[in-house]
Amino acid sequence: MASDIEIARAAKLKPIQEIGERLDIPSDHLLPFGHDKAKISEEFIKSLAEKEDGKLILVTAISPTPAGEGKTTTTVGLGDALNAIGKNAAVCLREASLGPCFGMKGGAAGGGHAQVVPMESMNLHFTGDFHAITSAHNLLSAMIDNHIYWDNAQEIDSRRVTWRRVLDMNDRSLRTITTSLGGVVNGFPREAGFDITVASEVMAILCLADDLEDLQKRLGDIIIGYRRDRSPVYCRDIGADGAMTVLLQQAMQPNLVQTLENNPAFVHGGPFANIAHGCNSVVATKTALKLADYVVTEAGFGADLGAEKFFDIKCRKAGLKPDAAVIVATIRALKMNGGVAKGDLGIENVNAVEKGCSNLGRHIENVRQFGVPAVVAINHIIGDSDAEIQAIKDYVEEKGAQAIISKHWANGSAGATELAEKVVELAESGTSQFAPLYQDELPLMEKISTIAKRIYRAEEVLADKKVRNQLKQWEDQGFGKLPVCMAKTQYSFSTDPDLRGAPTGHSMPIREVRLSAGAGFIVVICGEIMTMPGLPRKPAAESIHLNAKGEIEGLF
Ligand code: ADP
Ligand code: MG
Repeated sequence: MASDIEIARAAKLKPIQEIGERLDIPSDHLLPFGHDKAKISEEFIKSLAEKEDGKLILVTAISPTPAGEGKTTTTVGLGDALNAIGKNAAVCLREASLGPCFGMKGGAAGGGHAQVVPMESMNLHFTGDFHAITSAHNLLSAMIDNHIYWDNAQEIDSRRVTWRRVLDMNDRSLRTITTSLGGVVNGFPREAGFDITVASEVMAILCLADDLEDLQKRLGDIIIGYRRDRSPVYCRDIGADGAMTVLLQQAMQPNLVQTLENNPAFVHGGPFANIAHGCNSVVATKTALKLADYVVTEAGFGADLGAEKFFDIKCRKAGLKPDAAVIVATIRALKMNGGVAKGDLGIENVNAVEKGCSNLGRHIENVRQFGVPAVVAINHIIGDSDAEIQAIKDYVEEKGAQAIISKHWANGSAGATELAEKVVELAESGTSQFAPLYQDELPLMEKISTIAKRIYRAEEVLADKKVRNQLKQWEDQGFGKLPVCMAKTQYSFSTDPDLRGAPTGHSMPIREVRLSAGAGFIVVICGEIMTMPGLPRKPAAESIHLNAKGEIEGLF
């Protein structure tokens, strides 16, 4: 089979105006970036307010393994298959970060015959949204140091500046730095550092804001640091929120592109899935719901982290009500969850599949806790054996659900029609009774333990006095109603990445809590979380180049 980039290059793209027409977007409300990408105007989005919403379908997965699951690929394949069976469907995805693109191989546009195009552009600069976010973030950083330099009217304690700088690149050398060296004219030296752009609170804010007004309010709410008396200093205290909104005006408009089968795809925003919520923008999802009858979207990581945050943070805040969920599993990943080493995944092993199904079963139960009906999609990989497939089907049936084999990677929409029919049946059944896992009013510590016990099946949450006092203080300051954003390893229900399957009875130690006051959540960190990744020994960048025809090679 051809490589992802070869398949993408062979695609016959339609002019983006034609894709817009399918959704009844007038061409003067499409702001084209070249021939095959466009932003959708804010004015047009506002005009849709009274329209009815389509059905919202979440694609999530079992706990990730290095064997891969294929959520994006399944999202695109399902979207194409819904269109193929006569529905008006669109997909909503996240934008790609340059860091991983040049680090580990692997794009963000799906794979095989289920991809979003133009994939080179999507994986590189796209429509410049990440550059805008980087600039807005760093404008605030510059204004903070400038404020301190000129008299420091807000009395910011320069040792307690929490706002860092960002760059859309994996660069471990910038994790911790000293700024303002070189003498009096350069300001007051202090310790600082860089995160990758997708970890910026500005990214999370852009993805949760309803419109430009809400965006500016949330930017203003960012806490940039503290005074000596520990009172917080906000972004609006130093007057950066207006200019940041100006830099982000265009980036707030969702991007429209197409799939290999010329169906509409909204690609907008891309927050980290650990210290942030890991979903595309609320604006893109809401716009898609006004324009399509079915909207298929993806959340990062497995259902314990990705789906939980999609439901408890994004849907809660945006008032979205998902109608069905698809839980993606592959036989290879289930085998890994069943204890098979990566090198042995090619060998048929029904026993290991059965053992690994405990992980899938836990995710099915968890999605049900949110009241959303779910179907399991087995993302077919060449070499999967019939006996292994049957083992999953039997297991899922026992759980009271259905597992459907889907071959969109190899065959595009034609390989996913059975899955699409099932999704329609679930979404139209009216059985979804979506509700977040916990109420806004629950104390912060209880929100954390509700997630830990009900989703991760932990026995207890361990938090020392410092953490408990911090949570208490935020409750006193009026932040108690915020949802919590769990940051833990995505590889296990526990905090030990090597504990695959469906562990129970573990303890969940909290290392640290952070307040993202602008985004509107409390980040709970359990374990090592890297907000500025490094490049591997042999980065993908070493093999990326232009060929004689000027085409990009080695990206994927
Ligand atoms: P996720 O969204 O879960 O991270 P992706 O859909 O991006 O996963 O897929 C990760 C990688 O696996 C991509 O390079 C994709 O081409 C590949 N992939 C996905 N599904 C299959 C499949 N059925 N067979 C072979 N490769 C696949
Ligand atoms: Mg993905």
